[in-house]
Amino acid sequence: MYDYLIVGAGLFGAVFAREATQRGKTCLVIDRRDHVAGNIYTKEIEGIAVHVYGAHIFHTSDREVWEYVNRFAEFNNYVNAPVAVYRDELYNLPFNMNTFSKMWGIRTPAEAKAIIEAQIRELNIGEPKNLEEQALKLVGRDVYEKLIRGYTEKQWGRDCKDLPAFIIKRLPLRFRYDNNYFNDRYQGIPVEGYTKLVEKLLEGSEVRLNTDYADLVKNQPQIARKTVYTGMIDAFFDFCYGPLEYRSVRFETEVLEEENHQGNAVVNYTEREIPYTRIIEHKHFTFGTQEKTVISREYPAEWKPGVEPYYPVNNEKNNALYEKYRALAQTRKDVLFGGRLGMYRYFDMDKVIRAALDVCAEEFR
Ligand code: UDP
Repeated sequence: MYDYLIVGAGLFGAVFAREATQRGKTCLVIDRRDHVAGNIYTKEIEGIAVHVYGAHIFHTSDREVWEYVNRFAEFNNYVNAPVAVYRDELYNLPFNMNTFSKMWGIRTPAEAKAIIEAQIRELNIGEPKNLEEQALKLVGRDVYEKLIRGYTEKQWGRDCKDLPAFIIKRLPLRFRYDNNYFNDRYQGIPVEGYTKLVEKLLEGSEVRLNTDYADLVKNQPQIARKTVYTGMIDAFFDFCYGPLEYRSVRFETEVLEEENHQGNAVVNYTEREIPYTRIIEHKHFTFGTQEKTVISREYPAEWKPGVEPYYPVNNEKNNALYEKYRALAQTRKDVLFGGRLGMYRYFDMDKVIRAALDVCAEEFR
């Protein structure tokens, strides 16, 4: 009998496993996929670490979390600075002075502010009733039409007028010439890929891949004293209150016979007519100089059984439903729930690690 059965070899499960084994506990980590690392899995293609389940850029302001990941992997100094393509126009993201200067041919923050404020005033929007009104009220017409509308509608699969305002609570406008997408203190990409980082965390645990949780516990219900479950919480309880919604993503990955395809790791396509939201050129995350390059086009999709869930859809309806599952989960003293799917939260990687360390602090008090 193991001390812990950890379901899911992603970041939450791996951090928990590391903390447990360090305290002398025995862990069995299972995953139904044929690899560890969950959705941060990276795979070598043409000598390039390919982010198989979408681009992952590590960023945090949590110093303890930053020091923690640096114990298990070396990070480079990559800074995310995506570019957005709208028809034949190209803009820097996030919305900053480079964006505004290109859009309106202006130079100073005062000029940019004057244009944005005039556009907002002209629209005369009261209390925003949907995402479109909320965005327009925050950034004005030009930025909304060119850089937000199409992208958001593709990502969520519905019209901005049918999306709730609270999804875009705060769209930062930056009145400096600064293309760093994140505001965090620390940022980088593991030089040898995320899979290595997770493998390091899992040292000392037993790992079984291609292993389904339900099958395992059906045959061996006594396999562990306690379970750490990082899969979909609604699935764990057989969808007894009904299904939670998730968004999924589909990737088309291609090897190209050229050294440098788009000159940047992330290029967003913000017009609605182009079906994908972005193209990732993986080598640029690690400043690669290989002869070939690998790109992935990202197509958002509704989640349905049989495809991978990526994003919890944290609207009011789903959050209320999740609360019911959470209450049920609290009656199960033998199971801990963690990660994006177990906690139904749109966590970034640093928040996953923080959540895992907090759960461990409680568990190993
Ligand atoms: N967004 C946008 N235009 C862009 C990029 C992002 O309007 O070019 C908005 C959009 O509403 C999206 C949100 O910002 O849902 C978050 O997007 P991001 O790509 O930062 O999130 P990720 O999918 O990488 O977690």
